[in-house]
Amino acid sequence: MKHTPSTPRTISQPNDLAILRQAHQEWTHSTDPFTRLTRRLSSSLSLETLTGILAEELGNVIPFDSLTYRHQIADRDFIYATGLGGPHSCEYRLNLEGVNYGILTLKRRKAFSEDELEGIEMVISAAILPLRNACHYMTIEQAALTDALTSVPNKRAMDEQLQRASMLANRHGGDYSLILCDLDRFKNVNDQHGHVVGDHLLRLTAEALEGAVRNSDTVYRFGGEEFAVLLPHTGEREAKAVAERIRTAVAAISIDCGDSKLSVTISCGVARYLPDEGADQWKTRADQALYIAKREGRNCTRVFAGIR
Ligand code: GH3
Ligand code: MG
Ligand code: MG
Repeated sequence: MKHTPSTPRTISQPNDLAILRQAHQEWTHSTDPFTRLTRRLSSSLSLETLTGILAEELGNVIPFDSLTYRHQIADRDFIYATGLGGPHSCEYRLNLEGVNYGILTLKRRKAFSEDELEGIEMVISAAILPLRNACHYMTIEQAALTDALTSVPNKRAMDEQLQRASMLANRHGGDYSLILCDLDRFKNVNDQHGHVVGDHLLRLTAEALEGAVRNSDTVYRFGGEEFAVLLPHTGEREAKAVAERIRTAVAAISIDCGDSKLSVTISCGVARYLPDEGADQWKTRADQALYIAKREGRNCTRVFAGIR
């Protein structure tokens, strides 16, 4: 069979393998900027890693003082920045098939020449496909960690972060607290007002929780009407105060149902991380505190075996 240049050859002769080996050697060790750039960009799907590689490889061919890449992915700003800026800058909108995949800005003390700008464009065109793949990957990754109804992180994100917090606490010490919250008699809300109203109330609850905690704390929806807050650098007493703020904020939610107003309450259980106990045990203790809050009348906060 005759091979056209666009038809890949299959390995049928010992010599073919030698050619393949040679090509592999060249691909792996080539120092030409494009082969190296594309080779390195094919090594990861992490947007942070890829923008780092792009900055390094671009810096090898066109010197700059700073590089910034910005892109909004699923409501979050992704920013990669390296170096300190200069008075001259060039900016590129990374577009592919009509879709934007971020903005790349280079700054320098000395102005960029026309040749340099052309060189930058060539490097960007070689990088845009891997960057697009990394953007898609990040979108999917974020969706997998986000609750679709309320847009706060979900149970999977919570379990990951509790594991991480427990590892950090075991290794470096420091206070971490967990608040588990459960809306009171929420089944009645659905039964009396329907699921659409119930869902609306869940969204308002997530907003109220986010408004009641600090930026360093994270709110999760880990079950139907169950929320959690992870509080780094926070002891029991402070966490209890935050739980009380949450309770007040949720009680202030009011939905106009025409002839009446609908409101809800929430119960909270608090547990501070105990050294070496592990994330599961920690969660179980917060859940036990929540159980006591429910048993002792709801719309209240209980701390595991501590200050009430
Ligand atoms: P308790 O005070 O003991 O927590 O009572 P409760 O009614 O809140 O608890 P229960 O576990 O009996 O019921 C939870 C209810 O939460 C059941 C279901 O109707 C509702 N729920 C769970 N997930 C969703 C959701 O995604 N949307 C809506 N609208 N309701 C949900
Ligand atoms: Mg529940
Ligand atoms: Mg409930």
